[in-house]
Amino acid sequence: MTETDIHQRFREDLKQYFACRDVFLVSKGRIALYAALRASGVGPGDEVLLPGYTCVVVPAMIQRVGATPVYVDVDASTYNISLASLKERITPRSRALLVQHTYGIPCGMDSLLSFAEAHNLLCLEDCCHALGSTYQKRLCGTFGAAAFLSGQWNKPFSTGLGGMLVVNDSTLGERVESVLQNEFHQPGPGKEILLKLQQILYSTFVTPKTVMSITDLYRFASKYGLMIGSSSTGELEGRDEPGDHCTMAACQARMGVRGMKTIQSTIAHRTHIAAFYRSELNAFDQHRLPDSLVEETVYLRYPLRVRNKPALIEHAKKHRIETGTWFESPLHPLHRAWERFSYHPGMCPVGETLSAQTINLPTHPGITPAEAESIVSFIRQYAEPV
Ligand SMILES: *Cc1c(COP(=O)(O)O)cnc(C)c1O
Repeated sequence: MTETDIHQRFREDLKQYFACRDVFLVSKGRIALYAALRASGVGPGDEVLLPGYTCVVVPAMIQRVGATPVYVDVDASTYNISLASLKERITPRSRALLVQHTYGIPCGMDSLLSFAEAHNLLCLEDCCHALGSTYQKRLCGTFGAAAFLSGQWNKPFSTGLGGMLVVNDSTLGERVESVLQNEFHQPGPGKEILLKLQQILYSTFVTPKTVMSITDLYRFASKYGLMIGSSSTGELEGRDEPGDHCTMAACQARMGVRGMKTIQSTIAHRTHIAAFYRSELNAFDQHRLPDSLVEETVYLRYPLRVRNKPALIEHAKKHRIETGTWFESPLHPLHRAWERFSYHPGMCPVGETLSAQTINLPTHPGITPAEAESIVSFIRQYAEPV
């Protein structure tokens, strides 16, 4: 596989940041998960434990390698996998445990890691929301055998779609290397141009005031093949479309290198904005995260539980206030056909309640203090606490 200087630079930057064994750059976060599962030999007959409050593309990758997703309920105060539910869902076929640091809130890694060790489970971290969060002062992404990150637009830092696999285990890195050699291709020139064009369009037009209507437009355009979407219709319906086993394009790696340069100031900004939401919106602070966890969280989005989620989202669109809807279901964004991913209604009641009630507020660098003020007054005016 040929690799440009910019890919090498981005890998080095990430390696340094995570102090990890190796880093691999691919087309999407989910594809990084796929590579990790393949490299670990997870396959038919194996079960993978994961939270029942996630993106549907995560169980889709578990199924792509032939394994079965087994959903574990989450904890209402942390939005993260619950140890009590995990103990109920483990079986002799359980092979791996996927921990997801939802919204940037770190999972309780000490108990999860000892559980994984005791049951001989491979631990993988979904860091798609968590860049810079720590647990007991140790960086999220450094606990599991590997961790994957997403470079999608609304993730910790964007590469204009893209995925990064952080590998901590010494033998896993070599196996990932050979999975990439054998099963992956590089983006062709056409795809590289399209990705670059999307980066330019995004940076020109997407602002907190336009993001909700542009996201609708983007979903529409990618449905009809006019843009490279994050998920195709077929994918969301459970049909496997393995055409995207692709490494990262150079323009994406270049954007990643730029993102790494501002990582500390971005983290400081997110922390500052989230602290503002927390102090101004304490009426909504039902999750009551212990202060010790709050201090270790770099919020990608600040979650709030409300009684009137659908109406509130409609108001937000009308008032051009940036709010997020995820997760809309235990298998975001699917509202039906969950059984295609081995989820049956009622499996994760907490995850289902949180999906029905949780909206999230942006903390990204585009949110100025004035913008945060208008978000807060919008929430105070229209949101109904649970
Ligand atoms: C976005 C997301 C993913 C998938 O990332 P892609 O880059 O879109 O493949 C996986 N897990 C979580 C929790 C996410 O939010």
